[in-house]
Amino acid sequence: MDAQITIIGAGVVGLSIAERVSKDFKDVFLIDKYPTFGQETSSRNSEVIHAGIYYPKGSLKSRLCIEGKKLLYNYCIENDVPFKNCGKLIVATSEDEIPIIEGIQRTAFNNGVEDLLIIDKDRIAELEPSVFAMKAIFSPSTGIVDSHSLMKSYETGTIHNGGQIVYGSEVTAIRKIESGYEITLLDSDKKIYRFTSNIVINSAGLTSDKVSEMVGLEDDKLKIMFCKGEYFRLNPPKNRLINRLVYPVPEHNLEGIGIHVTVEIGGGVKLGPDVTYLKSNDYDYKVTPSKQEAFFKSVRKFLPFLEYNDLSPEMAGIRPKIQKPGDPVMDFYIKEEIGRGCPGFINLIGIESPGLTSSLAIANYVRKLINI
Ligand SMILES: Cc1cc2nc3c(=O)[nH]c(=O)nc-3n(C[C@H](O)[C@H](O)[C@H](O)COP(=O)(O)OP(=O)(O)OC[C@H]3O[C@@H](n4cnc5c(N)ncnc54)[C@H](O)[C@@H]3O)c2cc1C
Repeated sequence: MDAQITIIGAGVVGLSIAERVSKDFKDVFLIDKYPTFGQETSSRNSEVIHAGIYYPKGSLKSRLCIEGKKLLYNYCIENDVPFKNCGKLIVATSEDEIPIIEGIQRTAFNNGVEDLLIIDKDRIAELEPSVFAMKAIFSPSTGIVDSHSLMKSYETGTIHNGGQIVYGSEVTAIRKIESGYEITLLDSDKKIYRFTSNIVINSAGLTSDKVSEMVGLEDDKLKIMFCKGEYFRLNPPKNRLINRLVYPVPEHNLEGIGIHVTVEIGGGVKLGPDVTYLKSNDYDYKVTPSKQEAFFKSVRKFLPFLEYNDLSPEMAGIRPKIQKPGDPVMDFYIKEEIGRGCPGFINLIGIESPGLTSSLAIANYVRKLINI
């Protein structure tokens, strides 16, 4: 075999896995079709270190988020990755929403997030004087991270451990062979290469269902639907009125968690993302200027100082959803496909939020699935 382990996809998850497994194995290859890392979902997100408040008890999303946030804070400290443990408010803006946030606190407590506090108007005014809320949840363990620096650090760690990173090469075919897989690559000069690997880890984000199909694993339940999230920027100087993350109460099936206010490491503030399932799986990163009205109305409930012209179109990201519109929340799919005739082929599909927060915990989980 040319490689012991091949990881497809150098987003934050593939990079984290590469760093983790290159500590224990030699001949680890990380492949991406772009000339550098993180050109898709990993650089188009809110960069929030989630506390793990919303996810169903016992799900991978819940477990890996709670474990992952602790690992991530420690990793950032040890590796000089910029982060801020700024905390977050989930605001009740009407009497009706107060029992909802109380319910969120109880569910989160049962799921292992035990540090949420319900705070009243006075405390809210101390923390965020410009925010309107009747009551709020304060989550002290929520934070933000510079995802580019995080990915750079995972990349450096992988190379330091002896792993090899191959950019500008698209995986176009995978064939099961005796004790492993033959992988076909198309490089940027349109040259074709083939090599063999004992283990293949599919961490290909938005096209992870297509990569799985390359080895014959077809499954309607694992078809990815592109689900776009757009952002608007809160223009200076009003960005200075917000110090931490502020969220409304979430939508009932967690398709999204409501248009929220995200602070950035550099002090910028953005609003979003919204939730739009795309009709086809096209990479559509356009921001729709006509949505400004809806964003404005949605957050004005808790940002009363906001005026329409304080917003400007910012950017968009695409969630790799396996949850169909209107369906209950779906978990991350992370499995070695031995049961479907593909031993040593590890699939990661539907790694939407909280994938960034969970990246180190996902890497440990995947490490335990490797059996060579
Ligand atoms: C709008 C939005 C907001 C979010 N906010 C947060 C947040 O605040 N906190 C949080 O924890 N998570 C958040 N997430 C989720 C988080 O961004 C993702 O879970 C994470 O980035 C997924 O990383 P990944 O490595 O799995 O995928 P990606 O970053 O998509 O990487 C996959 C890589 O695979 C490569 N690839 C694909 N196919 C091939 C092929 N055939 N050959 C070679 N390379 C290939 C691609 O080029 C790409 O680089 C958000 C997501 C979105 C969309």
